[in-house]
Amino acid sequence: MAKKPLKDSSKEQTPKNPLIPKTRSSVVKQFKSRRKPEFDVDDLCDSLLKGNITALSRAITLIESTKPEHRPLAHDLLQRCLPYSNTSKRIGITGVPGVGKSSFIEAFGSLVASPSNKVAVLAVDPSSSISKGSVLGDKTRMQELARHPDVFIRPSAAGSTLGGVARKTRETILLCEAFGFQTIIVETVGVGQSETVVHSMVDFFLVLKLSGAGDELQGIKRGIIELADSIVINKADGDNLQRAKIAKSEFSRAIKLFPPKENGWKPKVLLTSAIENKGIVEVRELIDSYIETSKKNHSFDKKRQDQNKFWLYQSIEEHLKENFYQNPEIQKALQLQLKAIEDHKITPFAAAQHLISLL
Ligand code: GDP
Repeated sequence: MAKKPLKDSSKEQTPKNPLIPKTRSSVVKQFKSRRKPEFDVDDLCDSLLKGNITALSRAITLIESTKPEHRPLAHDLLQRCLPYSNTSKRIGITGVPGVGKSSFIEAFGSLVASPSNKVAVLAVDPSSSISKGSVLGDKTRMQELARHPDVFIRPSAAGSTLGGVARKTRETILLCEAFGFQTIIVETVGVGQSETVVHSMVDFFLVLKLSGAGDELQGIKRGIIELADSIVINKADGDNLQRAKIAKSEFSRAIKLFPPKENGWKPKVLLTSAIENKGIVEVRELIDSYIETSKKNHSFDKKRQDQNKFWLYQSIEEHLKENFYQNPEIQKALQLQLKAIEDHKITPFAAAQHLISLL
């Protein structure tokens, strides 16, 4: 782990942020005045910055909490962690179920994880709350990597909206960075907008593909090239190797037809066999060279700045929506308006105007 000023990372070391409203500390005080606070932000922050893994888990539990009284505490904690975050490589990985994401992350994680490069694996899986059976949260996944001393695996946060799950994952990234993780992997299945959402929180976005599934061109139509910094064709082994090579040249040719990304990067196509541990080193080299190049031409910082701005707007939208739908007045009026729409007594647009005017 890179040496950070973790020793006495108490309150006085954390720069005061003029952007935090004063009310924040009064809320914290109010909680502190209780006999036994459920979350003591001072303690939690201190232990987390010292690399206490239990504190990290508790901190994540706090930011995942849906209790409104936990939100100011979570904000306070995040604000204090902020000066210590922004330090890792953030890598997004997507692909359909069965493409080999967990096998790939096992192989990649084992290759890169070390005491000086701790790895956190997070997931964005909006399906978990709907189906109650998460595609990515299955405990049998990544068993070997889970035992690695320098790896932390956290299943997807639960949430009724992708925006909610995504926010929690993004906040978890900041906590993990403050803890001292240098590589953060965020995994997602390509459900709905989840790929776009993960793309907006990582430095490097990797798309895992299978060969011979006849979807080479489909993938391109779906705009995957715009998102992908690299396309990795997995399961390039055994009888599949030849097909994988053909897929590689097809993708490589297709990529050339696209204009370079804003930062000048041209996505690369690689072959891997996660099972046979082949091609994984090349993926690591590619990611490292991407990060090195983008740091040199300053696009690394620019991308993170743009992402922060995007997340500002996302947070405002989430917050407004939550406030709106959780308002008991609105909830009552909404039911009446829904009935009125059903009875053709009002248009949806007029009903929406009416509801918004109640706020
Ligand atoms: P995920 O659903 O995307 O996480 O996919 P998994 O990692 O669970 O893999 C799905 C199946 O594909 C498992 O049976 C793996 O053993 C197999 N698999 C994963 N990677 C490879 C690979 O590189 N080569 C081969 N032959 N099989 C693989």
